[in-house]
Amino acid sequence: MVRKTLIAGNWKMNGLLEDGLALAKDVALEAKKRGYKNCEFLVCPPFTLLSTVKKALRGSKVALGAQDCHTATSGAHTGDVSPQMLKDLGCSYVIVGHSERRANHHETSALVCQKAESAHAAGLKAIICIGETESERDSGKTIAVCQKQIKESVPSDATAQNTVIAYEPVWAIGTGKTPTVADVAEVHGAIRAAISQKLGKAVASQMRILYGGSVKPSNAAQLLSLKDVDGGLIGGASLKASDFMGIADAVCQK
Ligand code: PEP
Repeated sequence: MVRKTLIAGNWKMNGLLEDGLALAKDVALEAKKRGYKNCEFLVCPPFTLLSTVKKALRGSKVALGAQDCHTATSGAHTGDVSPQMLKDLGCSYVIVGHSERRANHHETSALVCQKAESAHAAGLKAIICIGETESERDSGKTIAVCQKQIKESVPSDATAQNTVIAYEPVWAIGTGKTPTVADVAEVHGAIRAAISQKLGKAVASQMRILYGGSVKPSNAAQLLSLKDVDGGLIGGASLKASDFMGIADAVCQK
């Protein structure tokens, strides 16, 4: 099985009804025009836009995802959203363990693992984010940090069908800084090896590993065309359909 490239947009806490709707319509239209066979598109708007965006994506090849979920199905969890609720709204993916949630909400890898497991139980694909901080990189711990995060954040029920890994160096997110191509290649290779150790060679060879962190149309070809890179998780550049599609244009083929 060939790993299908995934171009995923993380809109973060951006977009009111009108602009969210317009962006979703633009992405759906542009994706349809291109008709890339080897690429899958995904947008992950904030919870408030999921219903609106779902309607705008109807009939298109663009999938819908959320940016986080709770571990429980339902219950006394004020302000939280369960994976079942996301599935009910038409989501097929959910991002878990984004570095902004790990940092701002003190989410541990153990919690991220539980979230991924709950997402799977609800029939969602989990995009599990990992990545080192700047100080971890500076002290030469990048590979060790990523291996540990894979070991602790990926549940044992993970398969290539229900899980995607996103490698996002924390220092590259929203900063305009990116690792070198050689660094990305090395870390992605190490991540695949860590997945293999945890879930076996067959699963590891099929599981998609995205790169995320300051990807834009001008650097997408070099960062996303590497052997072990199966697409991108795009933040800032996913907020403009032309930039998001520019990234796809750099890596997808008809
Ligand atoms: C992200 O937050 O997932 C991300 C990759 O952001 P950006 O593309 O803006 O660096």
